[in-house]
Amino acid sequence: MSIKVSSVTKNYQAQKALNNVSFEAKDGQIIGFLGPNGAGKSTMMKILTGFIKPNKGKVLVDDIDVLQNPIKAQEIIGYLPEHNPLYTEMYVREYLQFQASIYKVDKSRIETCINKVGLTSEAHKKINQLSKGYQQRVGLAATILHDPKILILDEPTTGLDPNQLVEIRSLIKELGKDKTVLFSTHIMQEVEAVCDRVIIIKKGELVIDKTLIDLQQNNQQIIKVIFNLEVEESQIKTLENLVVSKNIGNNTWQLTFKSEEDMRSKIFDFAQENGFKVLELSSENKTLESLFRELTLQ
Ligand code: ADP
Repeated sequence: MSIKVSSVTKNYQAQKALNNVSFEAKDGQIIGFLGPNGAGKSTMMKILTGFIKPNKGKVLVDDIDVLQNPIKAQEIIGYLPEHNPLYTEMYVREYLQFQASIYKVDKSRIETCINKVGLTSEAHKKINQLSKGYQQRVGLAATILHDPKILILDEPTTGLDPNQLVEIRSLIKELGKDKTVLFSTHIMQEVEAVCDRVIIIKKGELVIDKTLIDLQQNNQQIIKVIFNLEVEESQIKTLENLVVSKNIGNNTWQLTFKSEEDMRSKIFDFAQENGFKVLELSSENKTLESLFRELTLQ
């Protein structure tokens, strides 16, 4: 089951939420949808599920046009909204029966889903007696009741304690074995733990769409260099293979290169050619965490 998003733009009056975003998700992938708060993640998810309409663009799920045919699309999509809205006064089974009757799902699915999300031992309880992690399992059970082939999960791990986090992540991974999953988060480690692919948006624009393996082997080098003089940004920009440059004050630059060559010697050459001296130079391996920070910070 695939997802295809083409040139989606969404404005809330004057507020731009998404600007010309396109991406595809292939059958069976688990995709981490990352971005800082306000980047447009929830908006994209609501559009994917047919809950709101974009101003421009097209969304297909398994070749069904979500904008033309939202009900048909929703039959194959399971959506867990942010903050997992539940009726917490209800018992777990009662809630799932209620959801099953709304969505006209065979009641026999309830026990299957309870087992699938690891809720069996807690299923006789009231939802408000459950821990946040188990409440999240109830949300996930409701999301998979109609056996959707695509799961859209909006920040499913927010507010969980470290143990619950690990459990819910592994549950998402398990569910992803036979589904295409798109889930939003602002935690990069989560993506490393669970996903095959990473999509990063910032201020409504797509900045990265790569497999995790490509991201991990992206030949990025971060080099921190202190010159003896102030160096103009225009000069720094003449360095080959430079992706990002950041002046961090006191004649110090943090430079990110994408190259298989060791760029440290190039920086010495650059300094010599331009009449500077390198006082200090250090390089670090780029973690996904630092890549994410760099891509999403101002
Ligand atoms: P994220 O999920 O990445 O935090 P959102 O999609 O919620 O981002 O928000 C993207 C932008 O759109 C933000 O600037 C937000 O304030 C704005 N926004 C979201 N929903 C609405 C709405 N219903 N009305 C007006 N502005 C909204």
